[in-house]
Amino acid sequence: MAETPRLPIESGCPDGFRNMHPMMRKNYGNWAYHEDPQPGVLKHVAHGGDTIYTVKAATQRILDVFTLRTLCDIGDEYADGHVHFTLRSNLEFFVTEEERVQPLIDALVSNGFVVGGTKNSVTSISHTQGWLHCDIPGTDASGVVKAMMDELIDEFKNWNMPNRVHITTSCCQINCGGQGDIAINVQHTKPPKINHDLVANVCERPSVVARCPVAAIRPAVVNGKPSLEVDEKKCICCGACYPPCPPMQINDAEHSKLAIWVGGNHSNARGKPSFQKLVAAGIPNNPPRWPEATAIVKKILKTYKEDAKDWERINDWIERIGWTRFFDLTGLPFTKFHIDNWRGARNSLNASTHIRF
Ligand code: SF4
Ligand code: SF4
Repeated sequence: MAETPRLPIESGCPDGFRNMHPMMRKNYGNWAYHEDPQPGVLKHVAHGGDTIYTVKAATQRILDVFTLRTLCDIGDEYADGHVHFTLRSNLEFFVTEEERVQPLIDALVSNGFVVGGTKNSVTSISHTQGWLHCDIPGTDASGVVKAMMDELIDEFKNWNMPNRVHITTSCCQINCGGQGDIAINVQHTKPPKINHDLVANVCERPSVVARCPVAAIRPAVVNGKPSLEVDEKKCICCGACYPPCPPMQINDAEHSKLAIWVGGNHSNARGKPSFQKLVAAGIPNNPPRWPEATAIVKKILKTYKEDAKDWERINDWIERIGWTRFFDLTGLPFTKFHIDNWRGARNSLNASTHIRF
């Protein structure tokens, strides 16, 4: 009898075990070690001796049905019929015999996919939704990813870097996804422009006032209609008022820029988290290829590749050489915008992973 389809669940993620490769399910939590036989391939060996090979291919994340079907057909024909999307939009295929690895890679490559993204490579850029899903983006994160990864394809395919490099982009300044070794984030530089005719009909004014992190929004009556006003001296151009009140438009073709931050890293068993720092601001948000932002990312990667020691992540490298030398080596200008002199920062910025209430 056909399996009953899963009912939609509105919260939480689906059960990952249901579609997991049987050998992975069998050995869950029981792997002894893993090796990296070649770029884009992982070999996992379980305590009981079971072995599984993972082949990783890049996708552009937002996929058309034809491409998805092609990938699934490759998975059915050359792998064991199971695939797994990673956080960075790579697609992983699984085989249990070594001799099936190369035919799988050949099938992927001959269909135009790129295999790599493991160990000390630059893996795919993780990115947020952009125009397709979200209502507040100031740029299209997926477009930035495609344009940049086209230029970093050799770094994806090969083990060129001192350690792995995780790059992220996010498409608004609220940043639901902009933390990594290198992060490309939107930077608004002008306060929102208010369409007073629409505010009364569209916006819940108390929630918009409460939304502003620096209390720059006040209720106001404009042309006899209830509206809002912004104290532009206080406004830090974060864009937080735009989602609950679209008539407070902050996106602007000229004044919404990109900024690049480096050195973010999660904590792990051996080290504390490190927080990213701004290294380039005011970069043109320049679709469709974002050449200015891409050139800066390439410059940082080139310097990291030449100067870092083996196994140093970008944050380790900068910590060792110091920020002054980082700016010297990369040739990026150090400006007044790099100095965080906001007095409230000490009280509001989390400097550890402890949860605060
Ligand atoms: S980064 Fe901002 S605009 Fe992009 S998906 Fe997240 S919340 Fe939406
Ligand atoms: S952009 Fe940010 S700081 Fe400025 S008014 Fe809106 S919420 Fe407040």
